[in-house]
Amino acid sequence: LVSPLVMFFMAVGQFVQGRAAIQKVDELADMPQEGGRTADAGRAAPMALAAHGRSAVEFRDVRFGYERGDGGGRTQVLHGVSFGVPARGLTAVVGPSGAGKTTLFQLIERFYPAGGGTILVGGRNIETLPLDSLRGLVGYVQQDSAAMRGTVRENLTYASPDAGEDDIRQAVEMAGLSKVVANLPQGLDTELGDQGSGLSGGQRQRLCIARTLLQKPAVMLLDEATSHLDSDSERDFRDVLQRVSRHCAVIAIAHRISTVIDAEQIVVLEDGRVRATGRHQDLMTRDPLYRRLAGSQLHADSGGRAPAPARAPA
Ligand code: ADP
Ligand code: MG
Repeated sequence: LVSPLVMFFMAVGQFVQGRAAIQKVDELADMPQEGGRTADAGRAAPMALAAHGRSAVEFRDVRFGYERGDGGGRTQVLHGVSFGVPARGLTAVVGPSGAGKTTLFQLIERFYPAGGGTILVGGRNIETLPLDSLRGLVGYVQQDSAAMRGTVRENLTYASPDAGEDDIRQAVEMAGLSKVVANLPQGLDTELGDQGSGLSGGQRQRLCIARTLLQKPAVMLLDEATSHLDSDSERDFRDVLQRVSRHCAVIAIAHRISTVIDAEQIVVLEDGRVRATGRHQDLMTRDPLYRRLAGSQLHADSGGRAPAPARAPA
């Protein structure tokens, strides 16, 4: 996981210079530097960009509606969302069920085109990036990301078949799974049952994080599982987020108070609008909705496309 941040801005720099599309960020590490740019100059780039206040991800007045099944136009879900995400650290997104949190992630990955406004990744409009490159830069751990039948190794590498042993070991370590794997009867070659049975819910979630880390993303989107975790898993998860967010930008849709307390930035989304951004203590004092959500431990998301009525818990 060699400095994905550096590779990220280098990758974006390559696009800015109009060079060929790059399939994956990690391939970039092996590319010769051109035009007199040395590796050091490459390393200086993210700092220079940071100095200009360039965000890893930026939403500018983004609007979006899902097409209605009855052909009756669109149901607006996002009504002009703007916020920036720094190149490193944890940004948490919280809000009642149906607020549009998962939709934000799906727009970053271009599952749907935004209906207005602009989304930038590394300062580039995502619509100008080749889809493969965009999805290589932005890893997505979906809420229903599942482990599958097969070995732990197969579960980790099916999207990154060329991953080497060192990469796998590092991803496993960052995802807090080293001890878990060491305690499995055949280590990485242990067969998991259907949907990853043999691992706990928290371990399966961290397996999905490790799988995404193997892509070496510059930005990781994480739709946190709502199911209750035991306090050990919760602590492990918090540690994983801390480690990962030192390497790349992490945006987490958060349902656990332990996730938001550590976040550098919290975005409070309600009815498709950003109603506040700040850190936990700050929002506790100035945003009543945030206070209510935090009081209910933020477990206010159904995770599906047919959420319970969108009302804030009492
Ligand atoms: P959150 O993640 O904050 O709970 P979502 O982004 O999943 O909210 O959903 C926002 C709104 O968009 C909800 O009203 C939801 O029912 C609707 N929605 C989500 N996905 C779809 C879809 N694929 N088609 C139509 N409507 C959708
Ligand atoms: Mg959701």
